[in-house]
Amino acid sequence: MGELLNLELEQKTAAVRERLAAAVGEYGRVVYSNSLGAEAMVLTDIIWSSVPEIDVFSIDTGRLPEETYELLEKLQRRYKRNLRVVYPDAEALEGLVAAQGVNGFYHSLEARQACCRIRKVEPFKRAIAGYGAWVTGVRHEQSATRAMAEPVEWDAENGLHKISPILDWTEEQVWQYIRTRKLPYNSLHDRQYPSIGCSPCTRAIQPGESRRAGRWWWEQPESRECGLHPRVRHAAAQA
Ligand code: SF4
Repeated sequence: MGELLNLELEQKTAAVRERLAAAVGEYGRVVYSNSLGAEAMVLTDIIWSSVPEIDVFSIDTGRLPEETYELLEKLQRRYKRNLRVVYPDAEALEGLVAAQGVNGFYHSLEARQACCRIRKVEPFKRAIAGYGAWVTGVRHEQSATRAMAEPVEWDAENGLHKISPILDWTEEQVWQYIRTRKLPYNSLHDRQYPSIGCSPCTRAIQPGESRRAGRWWWEQPESRECGLHPRVRHAAAQA
């Protein structure tokens, strides 16, 4: 790579490349579910530079902030390729909005989860169907839920393996990598948005708050996941 990473980060990057290449060797078709967050910039760079056999997609829920579309455009320009964008089923979405209103997700946990299911989980399931493994950018530091994650897990709900190659990266290392490689990133990160999802369900955090405090902030912390990373871990397979 052109710009030099420090030794520890270089080693961690090499380990990610190895894990991803090993996943392709072991599971055949592998797909990366790109969240377009800071971690995703690292993984996109590594995958598109070193493990291009891995397919990449991102979900457009229809409620993303404008800054996320600007980032998509920047990624397309930097890597000279279009990221596959997956959309919710139009009919299901019409039914959801007819039933709960356009911003019904604020009204109850069930309504919010129904929205996440139609706008995120169903398109995600469609996008990973037929693959042997999917890749995610979760890190141990991100939440109590994610602290329990393993590098390779059997995702029983979706029937394929789940690979988390940057679990042990710190937030500082993610940003070191982004800055050293001069990667594009979502400009909301510069405005106290460490974790970015849909516009109406994401806000800036205050000093001292956890990095996910800006996601579904009106709910209890235990429920603040969109359904792509189930909390109950199923028989984990080791890397
Ligand atoms: S994050 Fe909010 S707007 Fe986006 S899918 Fe979930 S409930 Fe709907």
